[in-house]
Formats: sequence, structure tokens, C-alpha cells
Amino acid sequence: SLLISFGKPSSEHKIDNIGSLIDPSRIKEYHIELTKSTHLAGSPRNFELAQYIANQFHDFAFDMVELKNYSVRLPYPDKEKPNAVKLFDSSGEVQHSCRNIEVPLNEFEKNNPTTPLFNAHSKSGSVKAPYVYANFAEIDDFKFLKDNNITVKDKVVIARYGQTFRGNKAKNAADAGALAIVLFKDLLAPNREERYPSSEFAPSSAGERGTIGLWDGDTDTLGWPSVQNSFVRADGLKTAAPIVSQPITGDDAVVLLNALATPQDLNIPVSWQPGILMDKEFGIGTGAEDGPQLEVTVNVDLRRVNITNVVGTITGYLEPDRWVILGNHRDAWTYGAIDPSSGTAAVIETARALGHFLNKGWRPRRTIKIASWDAEEWGLIGSLEWVEEKRALLEHRAVVYINTDIAEGGKCMSVDATGSPLYENITGTVLNAVNSGAFPKMALSGSGSDMYGFYCYAGVSVINVNCASYSDVYHSLYDEQHLFDIIDKDYKNLAKVSSSLAQLVVGMSEPALVPGRIVEYGNRIQEWWDVLKPKVLQAFTRLEIEEELIHIMDNTLFELGKAANDFKAEVTDKLNSDSTPLEMRRANDMMMQFDRAFLVDAEIPGTMFYSKNILVSPSSSNLYTGSGFPGLLQAVSTPTSTKDDVLIQLERIRWALNAATAVLKS
Ligand code: GLU
Ligand code: ZN
Ligand code: ZN
Repeated sequence: SLLISFGKPSSEHKIDNIGSLIDPSRIKEYHIELTKSTHLAGSPRNFELAQYIANQFHDFAFDMVELKNYSVRLPYPDKEKPNAVKLFDSSGEVQHSCRNIEVPLNEFEKNNPTTPLFNAHSKSGSVKAPYVYANFAEIDDFKFLKDNNITVKDKVVIARYGQTFRGNKAKNAADAGALAIVLFKDLLAPNREERYPSSEFAPSSAGERGTIGLWDGDTDTLGWPSVQNSFVRADGLKTAAPIVSQPITGDDAVVLLNALATPQDLNIPVSWQPGILMDKEFGIGTGAEDGPQLEVTVNVDLRRVNITNVVGTITGYLEPDRWVILGNHRDAWTYGAIDPSSGTAAVIETARALGHFLNKGWRPRRTIKIASWDAEEWGLIGSLEWVEEKRALLEHRAVVYINTDIAEGGKCMSVDATGSPLYENITGTVLNAVNSGAFPKMALSGSGSDMYGFYCYAGVSVINVNCASYSDVYHSLYDEQHLFDIIDKDYKNLAKVSSSLAQLVVGMSEPALVPGRIVEYGNRIQEWWDVLKPKVLQAFTRLEIEEELIHIMDNTLFELGKAANDFKAEVTDKLNSDSTPLEMRRANDMMMQFDRAFLVDAEIPGTMFYSKNILVSPSSSNLYTGSGFPGLLQAVSTPTSTKDDVLIQLERIRWALNAATAVLKS
């Protein structure tokens, strides 16, 4: 019924100091269960863990717990025909075969086999060609090779992980004409003597699995969820990257780099020195046909499987139709100790703490939803299916989406966050309390985890929390629970993340007035514009666009700032304990609509396929980082852009800003 069905909890049932309830020993208990074997998306164990989490939510007295299944195609490595990377010497003999899985370093790893090394969404096929080292495979790295007359066209590229998302590396290599890319995990801290299993730093025997898709979501059902009877495209829009791609271990990379020559007179820049070959000489290759060659073979087994999201709900007593959502993925490439089970264990404990108060008769003002997403590792598939399914509801009801993924990646220094500047203030307050330090400005949110769909498809404000100053064993066989004996033996640091999540959930779902800061958000948008302006002016000069348009834009931002200040003075500052729920609700809804205003119904250049947020979206040069005004940035920095290319982006931004301004006016 639309009538309020849950009575207001009595005043002694207040939620108080939730952080103090977070119990590190329970976090440890969940973490041990979650990581006791591998739990790849689509595997029976990952479904079992969905049931385990659902049972916990039931035990914590949640009002509703749903297991949501979606049928999706995932590209697994072919068990019958394993992927292979082979080095041939100049006489055509096989000189070295790379391992396709890491050496187990303890009994546990030996007894619990995981999926081999592979890059999800790699093209299938076999390529044999001379190979060239391309550092981090960034655009500038390929430019360096080209400037030095080393061609990668029709060759194999070997590059190291780091700096940018691996999918961007594969794209850069393909754009430079390469046929295949081999990616190795470099030593993050080459000077360290102690390595896993006696320290948290990965040894050179580690590799890194991971998707190289430069898109997110299930493209067979792009725009709708893949549930029973859904129409499924026969051939998804994007099922494979443009290139064959395979990860190898650092140990194998040493052999491959040692076999390469370097063109005479070429000085390899120091910034190209890989940690695995610290202080040692190596070659970058000449590309010559008579030199050593690599054969890279990738066999993909594209299978339709069921993936499962778990969504638990605590219904709000006064505003059941306003949602505060907390989520984290569950699927892992191997055992997932850091990625993502550190996050999952923290989230389960947050849920338990909420359940503790629920059992005492407390109920939040707004509805709280806690989710465990599946198939994140393959391109955020589970969370995007849910966003597609709930899109209209999210647009009308979602106040915030709080994400965590690698809640703890290494020895945790301080809890950190990225996301919408709207909630920078509450995030800073919560994090400063657990960190006892100054929380810096919240960095822009890109992709790389499940907040992406919420922010960039649905315009829901997001906060992404983690404590991952580094995560060296990331996506390797060594991402297993014993690591916590080294990084956080008693789980006290992970408890800090759980406590932050709990405080954010309560801070967003309890107060009558949602703690958004529109004026500060407006200031941040102004800063992004000021940074971009010189580039825009340059493009204006080149394309003979009247400078007047800059003033129009300045004015648009001035109006936005004014509306934000008025909103604060006339709306939020005037609300007090005598204000009615309806008055509160009107103010809250205006804040909730603010991030929605930046969604546009058009492809935005300079960002990922299907991203709709014109204000902040993942950068097209690195999916992991957020870019402010990506479409305009791309238009003004591409030398071949036309006047229309620039004007269209400018106009779309102007109207999005106007929409955001209008949202703030009552
Ligand atoms: N978290 C995964 C990764 O970094 C998926 C990222 C994405 O597809 O956005 O590999
Ligand atoms: Zn993850
Ligand atoms: Zn991951």
C-alpha cells in the first residue's frame, strides 16, 4: 500500500555509533568462508556463495532477500585447447614455452586449482610474428617506438601491466597495427627482497588475469536485462577485443625480453626499465623478420551461463521509496582475498551491524539495499544487468550508490574514496574519523568497478570506498586468504572500511535532510571548466569560433553557482526540526535529481561506449580514471575535429548545466 506501512520506531530505538559494532573477528570468519576456494563467475561455488550471503542477510532480519539470475555469455579459456605463448629463435626452434598458470607456492594453492592465466574478451586465434617491447603500451610508448623507426605493424607486442587499464593497452597496440599483445605483471617494488608468501609483494612468478574489453555490461542484451524470455541478440555488439591478448608471468617475461635485441644507437629511456629486470640489460626488439618470434595462441570458449546477484532490503519506515544502495562484487579470478572478498567481508559485517539495530526495533528512514554483484570481472555485468532492469526505479528512487571492491589491497594506510562531489563532505567526515587524517578532495569516479553503471547510465550519485594504496597480488593465484596474515592479521584495518561503509549507509539513510553539498559541487564543476577553458580557446582560434560562446558558457556556470547558493540559502538552510517531511523531501529530491541532469541521450566521444554522463565519465585513454567533460575534452584536443564537433559538445554541456540549474529551483 502507498500508505506508510511501518510505524515510526520509538525514540529509544535510535541507531547510535554503528561503527563501534563492527567486529574484526567476524569479518575474518566471513573472509575465510568466501576465500576457501576459487569462485569464478558462472561457477557452482560462486552460486553457493550467493546463497551464503543471502542466508546471512536473512539471519540479520532483512525484510527481503532476492537472488536475481541473469543468463549471459562469458568467454572462458578453452579447457581442451589451452592458451600458449612460445618463443621461437631465429632458426625457427622453440626456445621457451611460457607457463599458463602461476607456480603454486604453498599447499593450499597446490590443492585448489584456479583458472589459468587469460584475458577475458581476447580475440581467439593464433599469431606468430617478431615481437617488440612497448613499456606500458600507452599511446606515448607507441609514439616513441614509431619515432625510432620500430614498427609494431603485424607484430606481437610485449608490455607490462600498470598505469592504465589493460583494455586500453590492447586497443593502443591494435591501433598501432599489432596482431597480438602479451602482458606481464612487473615487480611493483623491485628492491624488496621479501616476496609473497612471506610479504604482500608479488613475486616474479605472478601473472595477472583480467578483462581487456573496453566496454561494460552484457552487450547481447544492451539496454535491457537478460532475464527469462528476454530477447538476446544473436551476436553481441562487442564480444571480443580487436586483438589476441594473453598474460604471462614476470619470470617468463624476463626470458622474452632477454632474447630481444635493441636497434643500434637507440638509448632505451630509463622509464622503460621493468622492475623484473632491475639494473639488468634487456632488449626492446627491432621488429626484424629474421629475429626471434613469439607465437601467441588464444582459444576462447564462449559459454552461456547463469550469473546471480544477491540483493537484500531493509525497508525505510518513512521513505520506503528512497533507496540508499551499498554494493560489492562477489566473483573472483582466483580466491579473491583482496579482490573482491575483502570488500564482501566488510559489507557482510556492515549488514550485520544494521541487523543488530533492526532486531532491536530500529528501522531506517529510507530504504537500504545491499547487493552482491556477479561477473564484475568480465565487465561489470551483474551490476549493469540490475541497473538496466531497475532503471526507471533508480531514476526515481536512488539517493546514492555506495561501492566497495578491493576494500583492502595491501597494508592499508588510509581509507579512501572517489565519486560524486555531492557527497564529498559526508565522505570526508566519515573517512577523517576512521583515518585520523585529512581526507583529500574526492577524485572523479571512472570505471573499473560497479559504481560505473549507476553513475554513468543511471545518473545516480556514487561513493566508491577502498583502502588499497597498492594491491600487488591483484588477479593472481596469490590473491588468497593467507595474505591477510601479512597485511591485516586481526582484520582491524578491514574493520575500518566496514565501519566507514556502515557510517555512510546510516548517514545517507537516516537524516531528514540528505547531506548533499550543491554549492561545493557547483564549485568543482567551475574548476573543471576553468582547467579546460584554455584548450577550448585554442580550438576556437583554430576553428574560427566566436569567443562569445565562452562567455555564454561562463554565464551558464555563473547561473548554476547562483542557483546552488540560492538553494542553500532559501531551501536547505531554512529547514529545521519543525519542517515537515514533505518540505524535507522536496529539498532531498532536488539534490537527488542533480546528478541525473548530466545524462545525455547520445554517444559521448572521449569516453567508453554507452556512457551517458556528459559531466564525468571514464577517460577514453584509461577506463579506470574519471574525466571531466570527456566529450568536449576529446573534441577540442583532436586536431581533426570540425567546428561542429566542438559546438555540439559545448551545446550538450550547456543544456545539461541548464537542466541541473533548473532542478535546483522550486
Ligand atoms: N574490475 C575489473 C578490472 O579491473 C573490471 C573493470 C571493468 O570492466 O570496468 O579488470
Ligand atoms: Zn574487483
Ligand atoms: Zn578485479
